[in-house]
Amino acid sequence: MKLCRVTHASLEQPRFGSIEGGSVHLFEAGVSLDALPKSQSSHTVSLEEVTLLAPVTPSKIVCVGRNYLEHAAELGNKMPDEPLLFLKAPSSVIGDGDTIELPRQSERVEHEGELGVVIGRRARHIAAHENPLSYVLGYTCVNDVTARDLQRKDVQFTRAKSFDTFCPVGPVIVRDINPLDAEVTTTLNGEIRQRARTSTMAFSVPFLIRYIADIMTLYPGDLIATGTPAGVSPMKQGDVVEVEIEGIGVLRNSVN
Ligand code: MG
Repeated sequence: MKLCRVTHASLEQPRFGSIEGGSVHLFEAGVSLDALPKSQSSHTVSLEEVTLLAPVTPSKIVCVGRNYLEHAAELGNKMPDEPLLFLKAPSSVIGDGDTIELPRQSERVEHEGELGVVIGRRARHIAAHENPLSYVLGYTCVNDVTARDLQRKDVQFTRAKSFDTFCPVGPVIVRDINPLDAEVTTTLNGEIRQRARTSTMAFSVPFLIRYIADIMTLYPGDLIATGTPAGVSPMKQGDVVEVEIEGIGVLRNSVN
């Protein structure tokens, strides 16, 4: 099932939908995320007629730093013995096809292609017998865009990670991939810059969900960016960056 959020000429507000071939089955307005997979669609429109938006509007974006050994090494960092967490502002979210705006405050803005985990139901202190993956709505592509010079300068990551447009998400949420072994590829102007399998993460997706839910309540729609592989590189005006995850699709954004 490919879940999306769209606008369409017949709609007053953005709506969740599911894509099937060239069609989008639209769900009723106001349906909650945790009810989506079992919801009936109200009507169907052509995929060509809709505009895909970022598939979620998270209450928070929890990011994991240094979750791939080679990426930690390329930035001169040691691997942490617990997940290194930081937050990215929800206002930084954009969708597939939107433009990443280079801020005047930074001289070096880099791509970070990552597997995104979208929470489907409220999670707080997940019991030992429960599977953390049962709290997941699905998976999507994330580009954790980073002003690397500001990240190095500031003690906190907030500014470097949270400029408007610094969180491309999408194009869709897919439910049935294996988050423990999916290939994540980032290309810049068609050249591969980052490629790794999620099986090489230091902390796996189920571990991360349980770890985070022991700290803060995760709400439906919240997004976890699970860390980036080696190969981050700077982007400049006119570039096109793509994050592709096996079984999900391609998240494509231009840079201005
Ligand atoms: Mg990152």
